[in-house]
Amino acid sequence: MFDAIIIGGGVIGAMCARELTAYRLKVAVAEAADDVCAGASKANSGIVHAGFDAPCGSKKAKFNVEGNRRMEQVCKELGVRYENNGSLVVAHGAEEEQKLRELYERGLENGVTGLQILDKTALARLEENLAEDVTSGLYAPTGGIVCPFQLTIAAIGNAMDNGAQLFPSFAVCAAKRTESGWQIAAKDGRVLEGKVVLNCAGYGSAQVARLFGDASFEIRARKGEYMLLDKSCKGFVRHTVFGLPTAAGKGVLVSPTADGNILVGPTSVEEDTYDTSVRREGFDQIREKADAMLKNIPYREVITSFAGVRAYSSRHDFIIGESEYAEGLFHAAGIESPGLTASPAIGRYLAEAVADRLHAKKNAEFHPERKSAEWFRQLSREAQNEIIRKESAYGRIVCRCEEVTLGEILQALRQNPRAHTIDGVKLRTRAGMGRCQGGFCQPSVFNLLMKEYGYRAEEVTKNGGKSFVITGGEI
Ligand SMILES: Cc1cc2nc3c(=O)[nH]c(=O)nc-3n(C[C@H](O)[C@H](O)[C@H](O)COP(=O)(O)OP(=O)(O)OC[C@H]3O[C@@H](n4cnc5c(N)ncnc54)[C@H](O)[C@@H]3O)c2cc1C
Repeated sequence: MFDAIIIGGGVIGAMCARELTAYRLKVAVAEAADDVCAGASKANSGIVHAGFDAPCGSKKAKFNVEGNRRMEQVCKELGVRYENNGSLVVAHGAEEEQKLRELYERGLENGVTGLQILDKTALARLEENLAEDVTSGLYAPTGGIVCPFQLTIAAIGNAMDNGAQLFPSFAVCAAKRTESGWQIAAKDGRVLEGKVVLNCAGYGSAQVARLFGDASFEIRARKGEYMLLDKSCKGFVRHTVFGLPTAAGKGVLVSPTADGNILVGPTSVEEDTYDTSVRREGFDQIREKADAMLKNIPYREVITSFAGVRAYSSRHDFIIGESEYAEGLFHAAGIESPGLTASPAIGRYLAEAVADRLHAKKNAEFHPERKSAEWFRQLSREAQNEIIRKESAYGRIVCRCEEVTLGEILQALRQNPRAHTIDGVKLRTRAGMGRCQGGFCQPSVFNLLMKEYGYRAEEVTKNGGKSFVITGGEI
């Protein structure tokens, strides 16, 4: 019997798990996919939003601003790549400048600090590649960038190091009330029992709520497509540059990523299903909007494209707190943007609510810092050599583009939550995320998975399930 079961291993489930282990509680995470970070948390802009966009008084505004304030410290504790690079919303002419003013006022009311409206000359000092007809901009110095998959994986890993148990491939398909709480079941018949359940199932959260008898909201899908530029473009922009937001979201942005690439996108396309395919016309739409903000964007350096799906609620705000229809079921549903930013605040808020309900005391043995959190590449040459002297695997490069060492890959295979697929290694180490997109390192990663887990070649998968890399048997 668990005290709390979290359904969903995205960034929201991860932050809830981590915060819950700060109490004396037995915590489980049930994730439908073979690995954590399988949904929106792995395909988004990675922006730590300042908080000027969310409607005043909304949960989005409250958790965004609070999450933004907490993000740097959380990233420090977890060893996650984060940079406080600041953001700019640019305007062209009087009509857009009026909207910029409204954003500024909204930001002040939401509690965002340091906001300034800058004229063309001041903007040019911040960014040299802005389009000629940009007339002014809203500068938010508290904006930042974070590696979203590293954040999710590190938070779950830290929760596991503190005692949480992860149940991958556990797609919750039934729930029933018990004397002391809830029993949930997976398709294969496995069951888990918990005093309370946290619904952090992203796009699946309305479906999960219905299993508990709560049909009070729906979740819809809005796809966002991106282009990712090579690291050789580093420095093209230093801040996250947005156009004005619309009813469909924050609009297209051009931003450095926490890993040194440049990201251009996303689109905003209503979909009937969870669809992460990318479209040619999507790229045309992105280019038109990005070119209105910046000149000479080096599109020749695109190394990959991808799409993520925003799971937004029919209530058009985050749904956070205990269900009115199912006692002991706590929702974190409809967490579209700025959910990544808000995640540390949502995790803390729900953990406090659950601890309060279960009269749980603080866990004196809780370690906020993740084991081996340092990022090898960012260490000084002396520190790297020191590690290599103790562990020679750190002296062998496996992924040339991203300079990922064998030591880091072995760590990803052995550290909570363990990688057991090619994409699992990629998300944890960046092996395969560079210019050649895995052309060079993938066979080595493949072999390491076989060696570590005793897999036969035809058992190795790209991302679990039936995504086998080799079919037809070994030669
Ligand atoms: C295009 C795009 C851009 C974005 N940009 C930003 C940004 O720049 N900044 C920002 O702050 N936010 C951004 N967001 C929002 C942010 O990505 C999300 O708010 C956040 O990732 C949501 O996390 P989650 O854990 O709720 O959902 P997810 O990451 O989707 O996780 C939900 C998990 O639940 C699992 N699940 C579903 N059903 C079940 C079931 N029945 N049983 C077990 N498990 C189940 C899924 O497999 C999944 O792993 C963006 C989102 C998108 C799509």
